[in-house]
Amino acid sequence: MKLREFGTTGKKLSALGIGTWEIGTDINKNIESIKYALDNGINFIDTAEMYGTEPIVAKAIKGYRRSDIFIATKVWPDHFDHDSVIKACNGSLKKLETNYIDLYQLHWPSKTVPINETMKAMEELIDEGKVHYIGISNFSVDQTKEAIESMKKYEIVSNQVEYSLVTRDIEISGLYDFCRDTKIAVIAYSPLSHGKIFSKIEMIDELEKIGTSYNATASQMALAWLMNRDNVFPIPKASNKEHMKENISSADIKIKPEDMKKMDKMEAKYYQ
Ligand code: NAP
Repeated sequence: MKLREFGTTGKKLSALGIGTWEIGTDINKNIESIKYALDNGINFIDTAEMYGTEPIVAKAIKGYRRSDIFIATKVWPDHFDHDSVIKACNGSLKKLETNYIDLYQLHWPSKTVPINETMKAMEELIDEGKVHYIGISNFSVDQTKEAIESMKKYEIVSNQVEYSLVTRDIEISGLYDFCRDTKIAVIAYSPLSHGKIFSKIEMIDELEKIGTSYNATASQMALAWLMNRDNVFPIPKASNKEHMKENISSADIKIKPEDMKKMDKMEAKYYQ
């Protein structure tokens, strides 16, 4: 499994993480899938208080050494005032059945609570040892700058944003470059476009064609395209072991520059 430095943490995480939004329809299968990933080199799981999947993550990681797994969860904007952040964190710790969260992320920017207030509480959680690192999610370049400025003692180590072959907003807005230059890890959510890429038949055909020389499927090529960019950690959701297995293999694919160029053009070709 390809490992890469996660922001400024000094930690090496698997380039591929595990997404857990909307798992839970078949808990046993989901747990089997997560365990399969942990047994095969993945050490990074993403969840959120809003998903309701923290208890499933807790069940899945039982029996593994806690320090071998990097757990990321998120606080929802309704809980961004100081006391609510602390309460939400304690709730997540309980549901995750752990005494620390590796990465605690602000799920979306708030329209009402000043970022200074939220970050004060987040930094206190680090001081108490309940959180190891602070991340943000769905923050634009300007919102990321504002978040950086609000920090008194610690750094923002990641920004979780939508990024896939067909959702390239972070390249256009300059967020990808900004995060790379400031060493903020980009966690790419919905890396398979929430499953929508599979309905783009012509694109899937082209991905399969390019994938032939790598012995890779279309979804593997889509995930590998992200991991062949610097500083990007895709977190696909896979409810079953078969999808998980297929996704894990994508981390080892080294895409040739000429194929990367072809794939770079796919959004314009198939989505405009
Ligand atoms: P996604 O990972 O882009 O796509 C998931 C879909 O792709 C599911 O239908 C899944 O099916 C399917 N799939 C996965 N692997 C496959 C494979 N090898 N072959 C065929 N189909 C495959 O979508 P997502 O769940 O929206 O995003 C992933 C994670 O990002 C979430 O789980 C969550 O952790 C995070 N996220 C964060 C935010 C945020 O605001 N921060 C927003 C959205 C998502 P099965 O389930 O049947 O395997």
